[in-house]
Amino acid sequence: MKRLFITLCLIFFVFTAESTVFGRTYVTIGTGGVTGVYYPTGGAISRMVNKKSKEYGIKATVESTGGSVYNINAVLSGELEFGVAQSDRQYQAYNGLAEWSDKGPQKDLRAVFSIHPESITLIASQKSGVKSVAALKGKRVNIGNPGSGQLQNSKDVLSASGVSLNNLHTEQVKAVEAPGLLQDEKIDAFFYTVGHPNGNIKEATSGRIKVRIIPITGPGIDVLLKKHSYYAKAVIPAKFYPNAVDKDDIDSVGVKATFVASKNLSDEIVYAVTKEVFDNLDSFKKLHPAYAVLTRENMLQGLSAPIHPGALKYYKEADLVKYINPALVQ
Ligand code: GLU
Repeated sequence: MKRLFITLCLIFFVFTAESTVFGRTYVTIGTGGVTGVYYPTGGAISRMVNKKSKEYGIKATVESTGGSVYNINAVLSGELEFGVAQSDRQYQAYNGLAEWSDKGPQKDLRAVFSIHPESITLIASQKSGVKSVAALKGKRVNIGNPGSGQLQNSKDVLSASGVSLNNLHTEQVKAVEAPGLLQDEKIDAFFYTVGHPNGNIKEATSGRIKVRIIPITGPGIDVLLKKHSYYAKAVIPAKFYPNAVDKDDIDSVGVKATFVASKNLSDEIVYAVTKEVFDNLDSFKKLHPAYAVLTRENMLQGLSAPIHPGALKYYKEADLVKYINPALVQ
């Protein structure tokens, strides 16, 4: 599909544009569902890069995908040039865990930078009576589509809270469909690991059916936090979702969105993308409210794969290497 698109574009340009277009490289960024934060993140990054299209010879486009696991695999297979992926999934892929336990460590994966914080978000209809993870027993719950980041997060949270998947009626549909299913009373609850605020949770909390955001806390969750350093405590601000039943902020577990590529992607492309985002960070931060907390320093934390050499070239020039875990600087 992508090849057909590029061929059509080239044919189009042969007849319409100047010859400089022949030197242009098209790169695609894998994101997530259109109501999440990954999709606008891909849009924000591509907008920054495309402003300098002539200078770099790069044109970035965005693809809506199934999420983190899909993006990592597509970047490694060369189907996509860049992908947005959760920090925990970056760690698991690089170390051959979770979805990668059969394939083994994905040593070609490279980190570019971190982006916004994400929290494991559990939404339940008020009618279901669910007020805790443990109360999901016997309910119809969307645990996340294969390819998403949230699928493993929901399994971790359920098992840490003593709920077996056998105790639930599970669905594995994409997050984009979950608010509609909840409002149509086809499910009682859904998990989504996502930055806040986002359109998906706004949609889920704004319908006829009253909805609660459920805290992800308890002794089991404390053990989970101790066991996996890629999980951290997080808080979902209630003010983002005024129509939800909750009036207080909601405690949860968080990870980070990160930007990844394969080691086979050219240094020039990764350098250009990194430079545009970091040099214009103030403008970038205005593109989504979930970026409010971003700093040059925290965008270099939460990474597990080695830093791509193209990105590292920029971090050296900008004197940012001091913020990077030395083990990732090769
Ligand atoms: N964290 C989700 C995933 O990895 C995507 C969230 C989003 O699209 O903002 O699948």
